[in-house]
Amino acid sequence: MPPTPPLPPTPLAPLSPSLPAPLAARWQALLADLARIADAHPDALLASSMGVEDTLLIHAVAQLPRPLEVFMLDTGRLHAETLAMVDVVRARYGIEVRVMHPDPEAVRAHVAAHGEFAFYESVELRKACCGIRKVEPLRRALAGHAAWITGQRREQSLTRAELSETEWDDTFGLRKFNPLASWTADEVWGVVRALDVPYNPLHDRGYPSIGCEPCTRAVRPGEDPRAGRWWWEQRDSRECGLHAGNLRAAGRPGVRPRDPLPADAAGPTATADTTATADTTAARAITDPLDPPRSTDTPNTPDTPNTTDTDITEASTS
Ligand code: SF4
Repeated sequence: MPPTPPLPPTPLAPLSPSLPAPLAARWQALLADLARIADAHPDALLASSMGVEDTLLIHAVAQLPRPLEVFMLDTGRLHAETLAMVDVVRARYGIEVRVMHPDPEAVRAHVAAHGEFAFYESVELRKACCGIRKVEPLRRALAGHAAWITGQRREQSLTRAELSETEWDDTFGLRKFNPLASWTADEVWGVVRALDVPYNPLHDRGYPSIGCEPCTRAVRPGEDPRAGRWWWEQRDSRECGLHAGNLRAAGRPGVRPRDPLPADAAGPTATADTTATADTTAARAITDPLDPPRSTDTPNTPDTPNTTDTDITEASTS
């Protein structure tokens, strides 16, 4: 029996005339990529953290004749601005974002055992929290699907420098597409502004990367875009398990010494009392001028942020 001929490409929406030529080419290529993914994997899911890359992808997916399903993980610790984007997407595109929640019993048990802010205490407890609030709901969201799509970009961080446009996701057992892998932040924002794509207002307040409220802070100009994610940890451990392959691809099964902090220059007397050092670091993390105000459910001060070298053999989320 002769092989089935390939499906004809899905017709694309016309380009916006407001896009300058280089961005128009980028945008057209993105639409074509998404159309091919949708043709090959009609059940592909678009994951959204409601960051600007994700709303750009939602805008693109909305142009397809049959939009792909969009989901997000409501960890219970998101900013109100992020949650509000669900309504923005519905109003603008008529797309119902499927919101996944963690198992309430697992959250309750974790909080009862370790407290509301255990993620500041160690990488292991942070990964445990991400596992409950992100990874397990993601596993449920992806179950039975052939592919998923993310808004990750190589430029975003050290852990994403080797990101492929398409890969097999060993962790969740399905194909994974990262169609913005090679995009720069300028390209993303150029298209977003030209096409009037709605975006999370946190971006205008210094958050290039959107995550849980207590684990994300604004960044300074020139800082790594993901410097505000789990900022008390070492740079190459800052993935939460949603993209565990990134650390493997980057060849970083272990962890190097943390980046120097200003207090390190104070010499040995500053580190003679390890408890005092940890307390100082905690105070610095919490009083950082770019650290956003805590949410109303975040009244405590974290005890002891991790400052030790910790072996990371498994990336832990967004
Ligand atoms: S980012 Fe922070 S609050 Fe959110 S799931 Fe991970 S550890 Fe928990």
